[in-house]
Amino acid sequence: MSYELTGKLRNLVPYQPITGAYKIRLDANESFLPPEKELVERLGNAVSGVDFNRYPDPFATNLCKTFATCYNLDADCVTAGNGSDELIGIILSSFLKRGETVLTLEPDFSMYKFYAALSECQVQSLAKQNDLKIEPDAVLDALKKTGARLLIFSNPCNPTSLGLCRADVLQIIEGTDALVVLDEAYMDFWDESVLQTVCNYDNVILLKTCSKAVGAAAIRLGFAVACKRLTTAIRAAKSPYNVSSLTQAAGEILLLEQSMLQRAVAEILRSRDELQTALDAMEIRKCGINKVYCSCTNFIFLELCDAKMVYEMLLQQSIAVRLMGKHLRITAGTREENAALLAALEQILEDKA
Ligand SMILES: *Cc1c(COP(=O)(O)O)cnc(C)c1O
Repeated sequence: MSYELTGKLRNLVPYQPITGAYKIRLDANESFLPPEKELVERLGNAVSGVDFNRYPDPFATNLCKTFATCYNLDADCVTAGNGSDELIGIILSSFLKRGETVLTLEPDFSMYKFYAALSECQVQSLAKQNDLKIEPDAVLDALKKTGARLLIFSNPCNPTSLGLCRADVLQIIEGTDALVVLDEAYMDFWDESVLQTVCNYDNVILLKTCSKAVGAAAIRLGFAVACKRLTTAIRAAKSPYNVSSLTQAAGEILLLEQSMLQRAVAEILRSRDELQTALDAMEIRKCGINKVYCSCTNFIFLELCDAKMVYEMLLQQSIAVRLMGKHLRITAGTREENAALLAALEQILEDKA
């Protein structure tokens, strides 16, 4: 006799982040900006003030209030999570019955399918057309045809870097009874958020994260924003002490730094534009680059003639980017990192031309 794993575990493809000591990391869409020195000090003080022998506040009350104040929301519409990843897992495991259908758009953030599979939901995927844009009518059609009870997608999208404008997002939300989980992880880099209106709908959960523009991937903090009824359900379904006291303390300080966030976004966008311009120019010279997408995020998505070869040659030079089939996803880095990436890329593509 031997213990047998369930099929869903045997078939599970784990998320495979790049590990290893690469000099330049442009693979995970993190911010390249560490917090300013004075802020690090305040974070340290907050951490040392934590009651280490006590459990955290189960509802992260002060943190959610701070978030609500910063974004002009009702705190009863906000739930904190251990990264938005945790919130995605909670939502996909509790808002659907086993066997019900989740609609995803392809390509999109891989964790949606991962958590859906763990939750024993059916996943139906609507393939984006050649330009990789989202078509609201096609999405509504697919919701009808599949009978999906839940739609989840990122806007702007990881990995395509493309954004869907507010009116189109609202058309989808208003055109369906399904629950729409709208992941705005990269919306700080664009300005078509529907954050201010989601609480007026009874079928939307909006996700935000501190891992990208806020530059705090280390603390694992994300938020779900939804009407009170949905928020009550999310809070009921989460594990009681999901966000650590350390994260709650640090998160409150970081959220209050809205002017720092604005400065960081401006600097990251400057870097993103620099990469975009340089890669657009390489695309025009046709040196092994088929298409560079116009980014609404802090990364560039591009299609190459031989993405795998380029990816591996970059790794040999200790530069990590993300390989996704025939595409690469390259996070905007510091000036030096961008320059090193571009020089390496030029050389690789020229040698092969
Ligand atoms: C990075 C990212 C997240 C953030 O996840 P965290 O768990 O909050 O770090 C969520 N959604 C998308 C699409 C992302 O790219």
